Amino acid sequence: MILSPTLRKTLAASISLTFASIAAMTFAQEEQSLSFKTEKVTDTIYMLSGQGGFTGGNVALTVGNDGVAMIDNGLSDVLDLLKAEIAKTTDKPIDYMINTHVHGDHIGNNHAFGEGGARIISHENLREALSKKKDKDGNTEPKSAFPVLTFSDRMTIHINGDAATIMHFDSAHTDGDAVVYFKNDNVLHTGDIMFNGNFPFIDDSNGGSLDGVIRALTAISKMINDDTKIIPGHGPLANLSDVTKTVAMLEDSKSMVAKLVADGKSDDEVLAANPLAKYEEYSWGFINTERMTKQVLTGVRK
Ligand SMILES: [Zn+2]
Ligand SMILES: [Zn+2]
Repeated sequence: MILSPTLRKTLAASISLTFASIAAMTFAQEEQSLSFKTEKVTDTIYMLSGQGGFTGGNVALTVGNDGVAMIDNGLSDVLDLLKAEIAKTTDKPIDYMINTHVHGDHIGNNHAFGEGGARIISHENLREALSKKKDKDGNTEPKSAFPVLTFSDRMTIHINGDAATIMHFDSAHTDGDAVVYFKNDNVLHTGDIMFNGNFPFIDDSNGGSLDGVIRALTAISKMINDDTKIIPGHGPLANLSDVTKTVAMLEDSKSMVAKLVADGKSDDEVLAANPLAKYEEYSWGFINTERMTKQVLTGVRK
């Protein structure tokens, strides 16, 4: 069976929904033990990640004399936990809230932080995507959830002795991705362009693409050095070798699947061949080798 573009879109949309429900289920099951932990990455930068369940993507803070900027803000359900965790590091208000992309596990609390006075920053495509988002009752996002500062290519925030450059990479995890690079601190937040140690989710229905993810990670690997500390969208703190390893895995996966396609194999035949079996260690609850193969097929057949 060769998937039609419409069917592929529908599959991608259902995968998106499944991701949200798996996250919600995980959360419900493990609510009691759910917490955040804070890792001090440099003198001014902190990484906040969930423990005991799914809280959403990794959150970062820069805290210093100039104020506080934050990157991403987790699932809406974890707002109180997140605020309590932030309070362990600073009692100052959040001045800037940078959004890496539109998914609810990264910007689920924009509304609350926006209401609290944080100026939300994002790529212009994220703001556009957010304006089309509706909940199950047909309600649109409240005004306070919307970015007030948007950019098309890049912008820089000069804060706490550093120049934090927010860069866009085209059509990678979504079509509105932002990566944040703190030059002096040598720290990079990749958003979901990088799932450290796991197969990535590539959101085809929101403009993401396999080639875009490979392009972005390759560009990132050339921008940084062995000392760069990388806060990935999901997974533990990473470094340059984790990025190059991920790029190699993605390029190899693409070439293996492309070869099968060039040999005239149907999608079903490619899936049955399980070409990504050797990368089983990258499987996780949402993207196993079969789902990853489907994502690679989508990229190869484009
Ligand atoms: Zn995510
Ligand atoms: Zn995402």
